[in-house]
Amino acid sequence: MTLFEKIIQRHIPADIVFEDDQVLAFKDINPAAPTHVLVIPKRPISRIDAANAEDQSLIGHLMLKAAEIARELKLENGFRLVINNGPDGGESVPHLHCHILGGRALQWPPG
Ligand code: AMP
Repeated sequence: MTLFEKIIQRHIPADIVFEDDQVLAFKDINPAAPTHVLVIPKRPISRIDAANAEDQSLIGHLMLKAAEIARELKLENGFRLVINNGPDGGESVPHLHCHILGGRALQWPPG
């Protein structure tokens, strides 16, 4: 079971900001910006590169919820959605997650 599945099942505590039947959103434990929330599918998909056509509506739902959560978190000045994939992408937890980052001007390109 991945770390994030343990959070979904409440085996590990998290600061949950949104939940529905398909996704869970919680604050990142090591925030990289003043607002840093992770949105994850409840159905485990290891990474975006492992997703397939069956996951299309779930991933669409996740992205729309991420934007809705960003609005609710008052990130009206802008925010960034990030999905890290694989070692070079900086992925550290093999359960698909979309970072919502905001609350400061973010640099581009990322490091
Ligand atoms: P990534 O590096 O894209 O795989 O992102 C994984 C993220 O999970 C990192 O930003 C971590 O800070 C975050 N993280 C790891 N453990 C926890 C936890 N127990 N609760 C909340 N966030 C976590």
